Amino acid sequence: MNIEKSKELYSKAIRLMPGGVNSPVRAFRSVGGEPLFMKQGRGSRLVDVDDNEYIDYCMSWGPLILGHADSDVIKAITGAAANGTSFGTPNPFEVTIAGMVAKRFPSIEKIRFVNSGTEAVMSAIRLARGFTGKNRIIKFDGCYHGHADHLLVAAGSGLATFGTPDSAGVTPGNAADTLIVPFNDLEAVAETVEKNGDTIAAVILEPLPCNYSMIPPADGFLRGVRELCDRKGILLIFDEVITGFRLAPGGAQEYYGVAADLTTLGKIIGGGLPVGAYGGRADIMSMIAPDGPVYQAGTLSGNPLAMAAGITTLEKLDRTGAYMKLKKLSDEFAGILAPVLKKHEGRFLLQRLESVFAFYFTGRKEVSSLAQVKECDMKLFGRFHAGMLSRGIYLSPSGYEVGFLSTAHSSADLEKTAAAIDESLRAVLA
Ligand SMILES: *Cc1c(COP(=O)(O)O)cnc(C)c1O
Repeated sequence: MNIEKSKELYSKAIRLMPGGVNSPVRAFRSVGGEPLFMKQGRGSRLVDVDDNEYIDYCMSWGPLILGHADSDVIKAITGAAANGTSFGTPNPFEVTIAGMVAKRFPSIEKIRFVNSGTEAVMSAIRLARGFTGKNRIIKFDGCYHGHADHLLVAAGSGLATFGTPDSAGVTPGNAADTLIVPFNDLEAVAETVEKNGDTIAAVILEPLPCNYSMIPPADGFLRGVRELCDRKGILLIFDEVITGFRLAPGGAQEYYGVAADLTTLGKIIGGGLPVGAYGGRADIMSMIAPDGPVYQAGTLSGNPLAMAAGITTLEKLDRTGAYMKLKKLSDEFAGILAPVLKKHEGRFLLQRLESVFAFYFTGRKEVSSLAQVKECDMKLFGRFHAGMLSRGIYLSPSGYEVGFLSTAHSSADLEKTAAAIDESLRAVLA
């Protein structure tokens, strides 16, 4: 495989940007090798600057549920752009998409649009603190909520350890208000709430954690957390930046039948443009400026291009029966892969839920906790990743990331991917 132009760009990039990238995992550090520079995306495919083509399962880390450069989304963006890229005033697109979200998420009575998932979560936490008058939050070990200071805390395992920063530059003061609890451990949540309940503003979680590989919530876990929050007047925040419009039109809340007080959204809602949003109960949202004392603003928030891309994405998902199609595609993938998985049983595992999947190099039949993800062999994943890349399959460059199917993936894509998995595994596990 010729990757000369990528190599040349990378050598320039590392002199100009930290790690040569604008987001760390893109640098391939955890899988080895050098990042590829892409110049085009079409449907399920990415094309790099050396004209190599890949079937993509990173899909820009989740937003591209309709595939790259969906013709309707592109039309919506160019149509909006022709009338101006930003007005700094309210625009009709914002009203349309706010209504579309409210229709899909009954718990979101009011919504505010921002420019990234990080910004959405940061603002939702500020709002929860402003509304409750309490300072602390409970966060789960291994859940990622963007890079706001007080959320860059994972802390060690163990029960409700007080957070220590995960990143240089985060003050201990910032981290101290974040209590860390293991995901899927309802007893630990109960104990932490019992001990600290009067000081806790919110519990935040990814209802289906997808940023430390994929960890499905145990039966009754989400409902249990909901009940504990209700008992103590704690707000429950679902970070649905990945799961929103992915697991179902109404996200994990619809999928698992548990509603949140506040929800953060991102990724799919922007149709591939930079968008985040947070919303929830009207009485809570009314605390936000200009209605209330919690300040939050944005120069480009709700801009017409991003809103148009989001509207078209949500509308097309509905109109084309996308969720049924994605479910069928996921089942087909598992079916095609079954003999390959059987061959490597006890060393390699696929877990999937709707259109999200993850690979694990583990002896387990199921991975259901962060501790079990940590046991997986990430060195093997790195070699597997390189093997897949050389066979024209682009997986997210980290064993801690998930893969995404889009409506643009075809049966032929899945067949080719399964063959590449078989060959790569045979080389890696030989
Ligand atoms: C991606 C992600 C974020 C951060 O969103 P950005 O747009 O990258 O800032 C927050 N929460 C979850 C669950 C995510 O997957």
